[in-house]
Amino acid sequence: MPDESAAIRPARRIESLPPYLFADVDRRIAEKRAAGFDVISLGIGDPDLPSPAHVVATAQEAVAEPRYHRYPDYYGRPEFRQAIARWYERRFGIELDPNGEVLPLIGSKEGIAHMPTAFVDPGDVVLVPDPGYPVYSIGTLLANGESYVMPLQAERGFLPDLNAVPEGVALRARLLWINYPNNPTAAVAPLEFFEEVVAFARRYSILVCHDNAYSEVTYDGYRAPSFLEVPGAREVGVEFHSLSKTYNMTGWRTGMVVGNPVAIEALGRVKTNVDSGIFDAVQIASITALDGDQAWVEERNVRFQTRRDAVIATLRRVGIEAPVPKASLYVWAPIPAGYSSVDFSLRILDDAAVWVTPGVGFGANGEGYFRISLTVADQRLAEALERMERVRL
Ligand SMILES: *Cc1c(COP(=O)(O)O)cnc(C)c1O
Repeated sequence: MPDESAAIRPARRIESLPPYLFADVDRRIAEKRAAGFDVISLGIGDPDLPSPAHVVATAQEAVAEPRYHRYPDYYGRPEFRQAIARWYERRFGIELDPNGEVLPLIGSKEGIAHMPTAFVDPGDVVLVPDPGYPVYSIGTLLANGESYVMPLQAERGFLPDLNAVPEGVALRARLLWINYPNNPTAAVAPLEFFEEVVAFARRYSILVCHDNAYSEVTYDGYRAPSFLEVPGAREVGVEFHSLSKTYNMTGWRTGMVVGNPVAIEALGRVKTNVDSGIFDAVQIASITALDGDQAWVEERNVRFQTRRDAVIATLRRVGIEAPVPKASLYVWAPIPAGYSSVDFSLRILDDAAVWVTPGVGFGANGEGYFRISLTVADQRLAEALERMERVRL
């Protein structure tokens, strides 16, 4: 007899997902809004500026085409894969085989989350940066793998110390995640660091996964490299990229992974079994974005750079010295003495009705910092900064 009193119960792996750190905070923000305060959130990493008009126009036409209304090709449209290869060649001087070294993704988060399904058996280790994008460790957990935390510290320019990974851990590791320009620290990495990563990965037969989501959001003339520029990288690694931050296209869900063909094939096999690809009209629009005039990107970056400068100037005036980021959509700033990162954020919320993300939300090693996103309209950002300047810290 089935036990009809038994409650429906999710899998243990779901129950062991880390608790959502900001559930309590969301409640506090909602309360503040309900009490009539106009809360400005500087917490969201999602460009407020529109996608390029020429991309939108292409999509509008493509959406009307009945031939794009059917299931897309599992591995992406060949012409989209070719456009990705062309973009990598133009942008980084890297030649990719569009049939085997390029795989479109439904946004890079999808591929990042599925990567451990393709490479991690129960008990295998995945090396993840902390603070970091939470999907690296969540994907690992969903594949019943174990995350090993690599702390990112200011003294090392927020680059992980690979020599600090114990030999026994490195031997059990299957994947190594890196992400430069970095979220949340806004740090960038020199090619020498990527060379070090390649040597480490070779020594321990680890697949390197570089998340290059912010390579095109750069300032002061800085050009972010591709991990694949380093000799030997393609033998040990893949790179995730996305149209989300590059072209203000977060809602469209379009990105890619390129590099090691064995890794591309394995992830592709997972994907053919769980999804059916990106809406063809979105793929057509993505081609327009990649092949189109990249001056759009430069002009967009100037706007974010102006906001960055306003944030840095305000922080200086209140006595907070944050490094000036060369890239990404964030300012990662140290918290004044006497506060935990959550206490500090709540203080700013209470006194200024502005929300900044506490560093601990990105991992234990994010404690001591807060993150400001540059993705808020100029006027709103100015208003938020004015209010923050009036807070007595
Ligand atoms: C925004 C972001 C992405 C991109 O996600 P998409 O799924 O492509 O929209 C990937 N990695 C990091 C670190 C990000 O911040």
